[in-house]
Amino acid sequence: MRYVSTRAPRGADGRPFKDILLSGLAPDGGLYLPERYPQISPAELDGLRGTLERDGYSALAAKLLARFADDYPAGALDQLTAAAYTAAKFGSPEIVPVDQPGPGVFLAHLSNGPTAAFKDLAMQLLGELFEHQLEQQDTWLTVLGATSGDTGSAAEHALEGRQRIRTAMLTPAGRMTPFQQAQMYSIDDPSVANIAVDGVFDDCQDLVKAVNLDAAFKERWHIGAVNSINWARVAAQVVYYFAAYFRTGAERCSFAVPTGNFGNILAGHVAKQMGLPVDNLILATNENNVLHEFFSTGVYRPRGASQTVATSSPSMDISKASNFERFIADLLDRDGPRVAALFGQTLPQQGYFDLGNTPEFGQLRSRYGFLTGASSHADRVATIRRWWQQFGILIDPHTADAAHVASALTTARPVVVMETALPVKFAQTIEEAVGFTPPLPDRFDGLLEAPRHLVDLPNDAAALKRWLESWLSHPAR
Ligand SMILES: *Cc1c(COP(=O)(O)O)cnc(C)c1O
Repeated sequence: MRYVSTRAPRGADGRPFKDILLSGLAPDGGLYLPERYPQISPAELDGLRGTLERDGYSALAAKLLARFADDYPAGALDQLTAAAYTAAKFGSPEIVPVDQPGPGVFLAHLSNGPTAAFKDLAMQLLGELFEHQLEQQDTWLTVLGATSGDTGSAAEHALEGRQRIRTAMLTPAGRMTPFQQAQMYSIDDPSVANIAVDGVFDDCQDLVKAVNLDAAFKERWHIGAVNSINWARVAAQVVYYFAAYFRTGAERCSFAVPTGNFGNILAGHVAKQMGLPVDNLILATNENNVLHEFFSTGVYRPRGASQTVATSSPSMDISKASNFERFIADLLDRDGPRVAALFGQTLPQQGYFDLGNTPEFGQLRSRYGFLTGASSHADRVATIRRWWQQFGILIDPHTADAAHVASALTTARPVVVMETALPVKFAQTIEEAVGFTPPLPDRFDGLLEAPRHLVDLPNDAAALKRWLESWLSHPAR
């Protein structure tokens, strides 16, 4: 299996999985995709179902990943997935349990990992893959990122304590939920640095960009990232679409997915292209409805930070979906120069592109199964209340966006709603909906009171570089 850029012409030379694992964008500015998706026949699908039933989630993950990373010895993948997906980390041997709250409605629990958000499922595996690859190359890595909450936390919990990786995360001082702050700042590990920047999330992102633009600094300190365009994260997420499908026991199903950067639902798209019997991929946005607009009109018009509203499903407050280019590459049958024109030229110039009048646009539903909708604060509060009253299940605001959009559409059943976070992370909205604060799962006992480990820095790239240099010059242990 070779990987090529979304912007490369057809037939361009690809690179193996291990070469793209640690890299971000392709040199031409595109994103890596496998040359073609591995195909799973109905007989192989039965075999994979047996693997899940007999040997569990990590064995299924190893089998599926072997299709994407065929340059890895099979034994290595077995070990890496077994280390990533343990009952201790994910609260149960199922890793991704699936409930059936009502007729034709399933809930896949993607958020039972260490930081109570679905991002753990990809990050925990990424931690193992990165460490393994760094060992093979006998080198080391500094992961530098900016986070408004879920991603940075999942990354730190996946990377802490690793010998060859140092992790520094910038956060906007005082602007995350109390639970999110506690989750990050409670980490007491010499290889992890929490940096609270006197500024907003965009300032943090700009600082990361500034550090990365200093090529000499970047090279000297082996600066890398674990952002959502990393292909291995997408591949890791494909696994839970298969597991959730098997656990419904249905012949076919649809998935409803709360969407921001188009990472989670892209994995659903890949699973469908591999042959998983998926009817519809139901994409739910919140008030930041850039993707719903594209799927309704063909116009993709990302917005700036100033036009991005702060909502009660904050992890979806994204107006430029970083993984979307991968889907467009598929929609345009991997016509790389056309993708490059849209994302590399048209977008910055006009600020949008319009595929509304193309034949490909007509295939969004028929060939790819996408249905979309947007949800408002009132919708999400009403949906949280309805699920609590009807099913006795508390869902978080992001999951509620998906449940709302799925129930508003007449779609093929059964539908699997993807739960992307536990309600405890977003207690205020839950309280508004049902009148009580969600219970803190036992494993987070004492978290809110734990001692905090963080560094305060001004919004200044030179100060950040000085601090990083001094921190990285001393061995972590
Ligand atoms: C990250 C996140 C999302 C959005 O996922 P994408 O892969 O960016 O589409 C939705 N819900 C929660 C809770 C998240 O943390």
